[in-house]
Formats: sequence, structure tokens, C-alpha cells
Amino acid sequence: MLTRAPKGTKDVLATESYKWQYLEKKFRQVCEEFGYKEVRTPVFEHTELFERGVGETTDVVQKEMYTFEDKAGRSITLKPEGTAPVVRSLIEHKLYSGPMPLKYFYITPCYRYEKPQAGRLREFHQFGIEVFGGNHPAIDVEVINLVYNFYKALGVEGIELNINSIGCPKCKPEYNTKLREFLKDKLDSLCGTCQSRYDKNPMRILDCKNEKCQIEIKDAPLMIDYLCDECNEHFAKVKEYLDIAEIEYRVDPKIVRGLDYYTKTAFEFISNEIGSQSTVCGGGRYDGLVEELGGPSIPAVGFGMGIERLLLTLENNGIEIPKEEGLDIFIVTIGEKADKEAYKLLNNLRKSGISADKDYLGRSIKAQFKYSDKLEAEYTIVIGDDEVDKGVVSLKNMKTGAQEEVTLMSLIDELKSKLGRQ
Ligand code: ATP
Ligand code: MG
Repeated sequence: MLTRAPKGTKDVLATESYKWQYLEKKFRQVCEEFGYKEVRTPVFEHTELFERGVGETTDVVQKEMYTFEDKAGRSITLKPEGTAPVVRSLIEHKLYSGPMPLKYFYITPCYRYEKPQAGRLREFHQFGIEVFGGNHPAIDVEVINLVYNFYKALGVEGIELNINSIGCPKCKPEYNTKLREFLKDKLDSLCGTCQSRYDKNPMRILDCKNEKCQIEIKDAPLMIDYLCDECNEHFAKVKEYLDIAEIEYRVDPKIVRGLDYYTKTAFEFISNEIGSQSTVCGGGRYDGLVEELGGPSIPAVGFGMGIERLLLTLENNGIEIPKEEGLDIFIVTIGEKADKEAYKLLNNLRKSGISADKDYLGRSIKAQFKYSDKLEAEYTIVIGDDEVDKGVVSLKNMKTGAQEEVTLMSLIDELKSKLGRQ
């Protein structure tokens, strides 16, 4: 137990972290291009925030939350998703008192007690964005467009955008009545969770992963056929703006989305190549959430994207993430005096923005060169006691094998020019 990470968690090893850094860099870049600013919220919140903000009838709240009492008896939950905390923060700091829309992005770990499998973990990570204070359908499309651009920047193809409208408080009630009528006779065949959803939020039943439930709801009425004029018009405009942005989409009237607070536009990006966990990104409009959590009525749109699933998608697309470059310089030393000189040089190199390392284990010269190779150093500097006396070092280009003598005085300038750091 002691030397095993908890089930459903994963270390990102030093040999893999460049992939995460690359994705984070690209995501930040796209967010910046679109004018989004980063927010960071705590890893844990009051449980009530998620019960209210994610919704009591969701799988997340009903089955998946990491909830515990802290030492003062408060109920605390590790964040299962990124939106509710951002909304809490918006309300707490009254961020809505400034000009709108507000555009935020986040990169966060999330915690859900689920059955671990490929692309489904108990600790996973999400990229997400939220836009507050905009009703216009073009904002829904801007959110979709950001995801689209992000995938493009990564070179991902074969990802399909599915969209739907899931109505609003004006048209949902009538639909819910129709859905309940449809489900009434089938109630006994549904799973326990779905039975409990029947009264509170029957639409949630459509999102159940249980195969038996899926069969029962096959011919259920669809929200899209019951939209009010406002929702219909909004949906039509979303499609229009998607066309303007030249983003292909498919309408999937079955999209419900896992979370309770969605209204109007709901969308998913699906990768057909990562098997059952194919939803790589989900999002939509949640006009009711800010008010639901005690703030003013502020419309909002956003998405959340699982980073682990994104990595799987890239892998299955055969996209290789560029490896970070190795070290600029490794210093091989021979002798005591040289070792001290090397240490001084090491500090000066690093101060000049040149990445550098040296041997600390008293290895043989051959072993030091081997280690330099392993660190993928571009150049290796050799300093012996004789060289220190003469004020020179030997510089070896590890790719070409070319070797030359350089004075210690001119070394840093010389390296900067060789490494293109002028
Ligand atoms: P699913 O239907 O696959 O359970 P979900 O509807 O619960 O997904 P959301 O709550 O919308 O997912 O979360 C947004 C994204 O976060 C998902 O599209 C997915 O990429 C990722 N995600 C969700 N749960 C997990 C998990 N347990 N492990 C890894 N990634 C996850
Ligand atoms: Mg889920």
C-alpha cells in the first residue's frame, strides 16, 4: 500500500511531463488569443456548493464525490468539476460589477469516485473556460470555437462536434411532463438512480449509462421538439454562427450533459478513436447557475475538457508531442581544482540563461560523457586542473563530435552565439 498510488490516480513521471507542459502551453496560448484570463480556485469547497451547483440528480453528486468532514465538522468536497467553484468565486468577489462579458479559463485537478479504466480516473485534470454576462448565441459559438482552435493547434483531426439545445425553465416543464408520461409504465425497469430522478429531473434519465435504462428510453420524446420560441431562435443562431466560423457540426438531440445547470446550447466533442470514454470535451450554456448559487441573474457559457482523454486522443491520432530539448551544457571535470572552477562556471552559465549541469558523483571521464549523453546535452565542456591554469576549456559539440579549445573569458559569449541566445 505504502508504495502504491491510490486506485484511479496516476503519477506524471519526469519522462512524460513534457506532454502536459506542452498541452498547458498550447491551451494558455489559445485562451490568450481569445482574451481569457486564468482563475485558480481551491481544490476543495463546501459540499453544498456542488450539491447545488452540479445538481442533486447528477451522477457526480449522487455517486462520485469525494466528501469528508474536516476536523471542525464541516462537510468538504474535493472539486469534481471546475465550473461551480468559478461561479462561487465570481459571486464572492462580486466580479460581475465590472464590464461584461467576463472571460476566464482554468486548469485544474478534479476528483470523482468512479470505476477506473482507460480515460476514466479518480483524480483527473481539466482545461475549461467560462464566459459570464453574455446572452448572444455568438458567445456559445466563441466557446466552441476556442475548443476547435485548440484541437487545430494540436493537429487533432477526426473529432466530431455534436450540439443540442436542452431548453430553458420556460419550455423544460412541458417537456418534463411529456417525458414522465412516456416513462410512467417503464419506471419499474429503470435503475434505482433513475427512479429517484423521475420526479426531480426526468431528463437526467436520458443520460444514464445503464444499458437497461438506455433500451427503455430509446424512443423517449426529445427536448429539441419542445423548445420555446426563444430557445429555437437561439439554437438557429448558434448554427448560423457555426457556419460563419466554418465549424462543422451534427445535431444530436440525445445530448443531455451530465450536469444539472445547463440551459439552451449543450455540446460535446467526440473522438471515435478512444472507445467507450469518447467524450473528450463537454460544455454549454448555464444561464441559471449564478442565480442558483446566490448571485444575480447572469447568463454564462463554458466547457470542460479532460486532459487525460485529450492525451489519449492525441496518441490514437498518432500525434507526437514535441519533446523538450535536453540540457545546453554538461561540464566534465578532472581534478579537485577543476571541480571548483566548474562549479563557478556552472553558476555563471545558469545566470546567463544557459541550462547546465555537472557531475557530483566523482565519476570517471568516460562515465561523465555517458551521463552527458543521457541528459542530451548539446555541448560538453571538459575542464581539468591543467586547463584551469591555462584559463581554457575544451568544448565538444555532442552532435557533430567537433572539439575546440575556448578561453574561459570568452566562453559564455561563445556559447550564447553557438546556442543562438544573443
Ligand atoms: P462521462 O460521460 O465520460 O462520464 P461526464 O459527462 O461525466 O463524462 P463532464 O462532467 O462533462 O463529463 O466533464 C468534462 C470532461 O472531463 C469529460 O468530457 C471528460 O473529458 C473529462 N472527464 C470526466 N470524468 C472523467 C474521469 N473520471 N476521468 C478522466 N476524465 C474525465
Ligand atoms: Mg461522468
